[in-house]
Amino acid sequence: MRLVLLGAPGSGKGTQANSLSEYYKVKKVSLGDILREEVKKNSTLGKRVKDYMDKGLLVPDDVVGSVIEKNLIEDSFILEGYPRNINQAKHLDSFLNDKGKSLDAVVYLDVDKPTVLNRLQFRRICNNCGALYHLVNLPPKKDGFCDICNLPLVQRDDDTPEVVSRRLEVFIEEIKPIVDFYQGQGKLIRVDSNGDKDEVFERLKKLIENGEYIDIRRN
Ligand code: AMP
Repeated sequence: MRLVLLGAPGSGKGTQANSLSEYYKVKKVSLGDILREEVKKNSTLGKRVKDYMDKGLLVPDDVVGSVIEKNLIEDSFILEGYPRNINQAKHLDSFLNDKGKSLDAVVYLDVDKPTVLNRLQFRRICNNCGALYHLVNLPPKKDGFCDICNLPLVQRDDDTPEVVSRRLEVFIEEIKPIVDFYQGQGKLIRVDSNGDKDEVFERLKKLIENGEYIDIRRN
C-alpha cells in the first residue's frame, strides 16, 4: 500500500493516517509530525523550519524534499502532509519512479470550512507522543492529559485563528494543481471527511476493501 492523504488543515489527515496505519499495519509518514519533532529538539532542521511553521507558511521545497527522501524508505506507507504544492507532487513522483515505485492512490479528504474551524479550535495534541484529541468529539479520558502518556495536552502554536486563516489560504492556493495532477493520473479518490473520526474511517475502509483502491492500483 502506497497511499497519500491530501486535505485542508483540519480535514483529518493525521487522524485518519493514524487509524489506517494501525488497522492495516502500514507505516505512517507525517511530514508535519516530523518537522514538529525537529523543532522540539531544536535541531538545525528544526531551527530552519520553525519560523515558517509559526507563520503558517510552507517550508521551502528543497528542505521538505530531502526530509521526505530520508523518511520514505519503506516499501509501503501512508503519507500525509506531503505533497503540499505541485512542485512537491512532481518531486514525489520522480523520487518514487527512480526506485521503480509509484503511488497506488491519493485520497482527498473533502471537508466543509465550518468543520475545519471547529476541529482546529478544539484540537489538542500530546507533545510527547503526537496523539490527537478534540475537546468535544474526542476528549481525553482525564481532562487535559494524554491517555497514553498522562502528560498535559497543548494547543498547537499554529492553531491560533490568525495562523489558521493563513494556512487555509495557502491550502486553497496550492491544492487545485495537485488535485488536477493526480486526477490526470487516475489516482485521485475523494472522500467525504465531515463527521466523526470513526465514520470517516469506515468510509475509507470501505473504499479500500470494496476494491476501488485495488482497481486503481491495477490500472
Ligand atoms: P501539518 O501538521 O501538516 O498541519 O503541518 C504543519 C506545518 O508544517 C505547515 O503549516 C508547514 O509550515 C509545515 N509543513 C508541513 N508539511 C509541509 C510540506 N509538505 N511543505 C512545506 N511545509 C510543510
